[in-house]
Amino acid sequence: MDAKAAYQELIERGRELAYLGAFGNLAGWDLRTKSPKKGHPHRARAFATLSRLLHQKVTDPRIGELLDAIEDSALMEDPDVAANVRAWRRDYERATRVPESLAAEIAEAASRGESAWAELRKKDDWQGFLPHLKKNIELKRTYAEAVGYEDEVYDALLEDYEEGLRTRDLVPLFEELKGPATRLVRRIMEASKKPRTEILHRHYPKADQEAFILEVLPELGYDMEAGRLDETAHPFAIRIHPGDVRITTRYFEDFFNAAFFGSVHEAGHAMYEQGLPEEHWGTPLGESVSLGVHESQSRMWENRVGRSRGFWAHYFPRAKARFSALSDVDLDEFVFAVNEVKPSLIRVEADEVTYNLHILLRFELELALFRGTLAPEDLPEAWNQKMEAYLGVVPKTYAEGVMQDVHWAGGAFGYFPTYTLGNVYAAQLFEAAERELGALEPRFAEGAFAPLLNWLREKVHRHGRRYPPAELIARATGAQVSARPLLRYLEEKFGALYELT
Ligand code: ZN
Repeated sequence: MDAKAAYQELIERGRELAYLGAFGNLAGWDLRTKSPKKGHPHRARAFATLSRLLHQKVTDPRIGELLDAIEDSALMEDPDVAANVRAWRRDYERATRVPESLAAEIAEAASRGESAWAELRKKDDWQGFLPHLKKNIELKRTYAEAVGYEDEVYDALLEDYEEGLRTRDLVPLFEELKGPATRLVRRIMEASKKPRTEILHRHYPKADQEAFILEVLPELGYDMEAGRLDETAHPFAIRIHPGDVRITTRYFEDFFNAAFFGSVHEAGHAMYEQGLPEEHWGTPLGESVSLGVHESQSRMWENRVGRSRGFWAHYFPRAKARFSALSDVDLDEFVFAVNEVKPSLIRVEADEVTYNLHILLRFELELALFRGTLAPEDLPEAWNQKMEAYLGVVPKTYAEGVMQDVHWAGGAFGYFPTYTLGNVYAAQLFEAAERELGALEPRFAEGAFAPLLNWLREKVHRHGRRYPPAELIARATGAQVSARPLLRYLEEKFGALYELT
């Protein structure tokens, strides 16, 4: 077979998959924002049909033949071809190693687990949830054996979310974070300076919140002609195409942070997708590279930009003009309040400092489960011990503890570490950007966000899946992935806010 023709066919197949996937995402957006309840069972069957169709297409033996025809050809000297072929080969091998019956069993157990979890969590019924958890663990173990791994079972699960990530790299990364982060939390708790967070719980009318968000996001660089903002119960960003990347949020009239910082977070995800190269759409070069890198974008915009003093030096006068709740509040007081650090039980409500400890705990427990050193029955106790050790708080219920997240209910083991990886990447990227561009906060204070966005476009977005995530970060920052930039940032920022000595 002619290599050129084979490559062309792979591109066409990739585009076909991308169009089908785009309809799936559009239907998913509709399901979570607009669709009437009585249509949901039908939508679930439609998704099952689509995913069966997509699975058949990605495991079609023809793909293996086409890749064979290109891999030893001169066409591989073209770096674009080489990058696409490498990613296609990886995806194809992983997909075809999983028997269809196992894939179906995993999907079914995940969806049963998630709906059971939603009910059982309300009743705080750990014993009822345990069989679902055990089933998911057992299936994921079988899955790991099917796709294969070098060192240990857990690596096969990490690989689903972060290509090339290994337990042997994660353990030292988390170890590096653990001591300094727990000490920083303790020092902050002992600090006498505390923010006045009551100011964030005054009355913030929904319409004003929405108008304010719609004013800010386009100025950050979220192209509203290639996106939109809607309301939902569980906020998300979803890509149809770089020309159509939508975000959602939820409003609380008695809490400023949720909708505002949530929207900036989702816009960070969306700006990444809007910045992917359109000419490569439907091929790996046009796709986002990993969950960790995705999360680095959202967290950078949410925290490094949105929670910075520079950002609010620019926006606080406009916030004050819009919200009468802020009439007696000054800039520094507001910045301190939106950066409050407080150990809490719930991960999704955690601040920048304690967040990584919530993830560390989950990572250690997942690893112990898959290494067989922890039995699922003993999870709640292990959970509580670690909460006490890292955060100094202990949940009184399962719902506020081991049953708080949907991830394990749906069999998503190996997913949690990508959140902290996102924080690690974000800090490393931001440091590198400032080395090249100079201090960015003074620019934010002038309302200049394009220098940062353009830098991210150049160093991260435009590459799609050209390099595996760790290599992308190393190329963008000139250094291997490290927790040190994140620790430097947290120490400096929170040391100043809380006047730590
Ligand atoms: Zn996110």
